[in-house]
Amino acid sequence: MFYVKETLNDALEIKTEITDENVFCRCPRCGTEVKVDLNEFFGDEEFDLFATALYCDDCGRKVRS
Ligand SMILES: [Zn+2]
Repeated sequence: MFYVKETLNDALEIKTEITDENVFCRCPRCGTEVKVDLNEFFGDEEFDLFATALYCDDCGRKVRS
């Protein structure tokens, strides 16, 4: 499994398994939280973890139309 690890302080470290349910980004247009399924990006050579942003459903529809 993949997980994220964050050291909060000397005594506390959290590890959270990455699933298709707990990865999110913010819509670059309206700031809405968007759930991300990383499986969709694996194998995509264009994918850039830091440069990629996903539109929410509403904005995605407006951008495409
Ligand atoms: Zn949006």
